[in-house]
Amino acid sequence: MTPTDQPLPAPKLGEPYLLTPGPLTTAFSTKEAMLKDWGSWDADFRAMTRSVCDQLVAMAGVADGSYVCVPMQGSGSFSVEAMLGTFVPRDGKVLVLANGAYGLRAAETMKYLGRAHTLIDKGDYMPPRGDEVGAALDADPAITHVIAIHCETSSGILNPVAEISEAVYARGRKLLIDSMSAFGALPLDARDIRYEAIVSSANKCIEGVPGFGFVIARRSELEACKGNSHSLALDIHAQWAYMEKTGQWRYTPPTHVVAAFLEALRLHAEEGGVSARGARYARNRDVMVAGMRDLGFETLLKDRWLSPIIVTFFCPADPKFVFADFYEKMKQKGFIIYPGKLTVVDSFRVGCIGRMDEHVMRKVVLAAAWALAEMGVASAAPPAAAIAERAKLAA
Ligand SMILES: *Cc1c(COP(=O)(O)O)cnc(C)c1O
Repeated sequence: MTPTDQPLPAPKLGEPYLLTPGPLTTAFSTKEAMLKDWGSWDADFRAMTRSVCDQLVAMAGVADGSYVCVPMQGSGSFSVEAMLGTFVPRDGKVLVLANGAYGLRAAETMKYLGRAHTLIDKGDYMPPRGDEVGAALDADPAITHVIAIHCETSSGILNPVAEISEAVYARGRKLLIDSMSAFGALPLDARDIRYEAIVSSANKCIEGVPGFGFVIARRSELEACKGNSHSLALDIHAQWAYMEKTGQWRYTPPTHVVAAFLEALRLHAEEGGVSARGARYARNRDVMVAGMRDLGFETLLKDRWLSPIIVTFFCPADPKFVFADFYEKMKQKGFIIYPGKLTVVDSFRVGCIGRMDEHVMRKVVLAAAWALAEMGVASAAPPAAAIAERAKLAA
């Protein structure tokens, strides 16, 4: 455990902190792990891949062989597409639960795959609830699979995946989860929440560098998925079968990224695993949100739905507030923030994940206070329209 009175070391090389949902600020030793070349066929590298997969399956609480981990080259979206293409049979039908950009991307992926799908679109951030998922499944017996987004990173909302899973399996359907921005920091134990497969990537809560994603799947389900995939390179079953046989990735692996990820996994374990990682992020969020609220900023989401991953704030109503200026001023002070993705009102986002702690988050709030003062913004209070928008969200 990292004691809270002992700050994490500042990033070396003078880089700004990335308050973004990945790529994010990584430990120096994680970057340093990339200063070596590896042969992809070599036994040393094969052992590294094996270790990554074993540790990820253990993180999902299922190290008994009933689940397997399959890494896939590319950014997270490549793995989402690979999961959908592999696990949904060509004559299957997917119910996509969307409340933001990543849910909509999953629906768009289904369109590219040319496979049947239907969408519950809750808008910018309203959570899809178990009862409406149940009603949609009752109304359409053709639906075979549901895909849910664990933390919808575009607003930062933590979706209720446990109640969604119950609704899905009570009706004999199957659940796939995009846990990209949550896995490693929020519990997603396959013994508690039933699913067939989840997907995440190297550069989110495990704090690696970008370059691959991974699918953790029920072994028996994956075994039945041979021939489903639309794509040669994105076939999770083929990647898995080849890896089982040879210990190698089918095509060139991101060797340096895998080496960095192993170091990131070591730091994750050293910190105390998923619960300690989640606790640090939650503390980051609590300190940052409290400080920003003191400045007059308000969050899009009520506390119940706030994830410890990323937080959306409304832009202040004061006409002197210009997001591009605020962004530049925050960057000068050492912090890269993130534009918002809401369609109705102006917003911005601040990430809580990456190699940083509450001491850093206090400096973030201080930097925001300075930036407001430099712009001559007297109050960070949002416009009435923003508050009215938020009032729509159930308690
Ligand atoms: C980051 C992320 C992805 C993948 O995005 P890439 O840019 O392809 O890495 C998918 N879903 C969610 C919820 C994410 O946060």
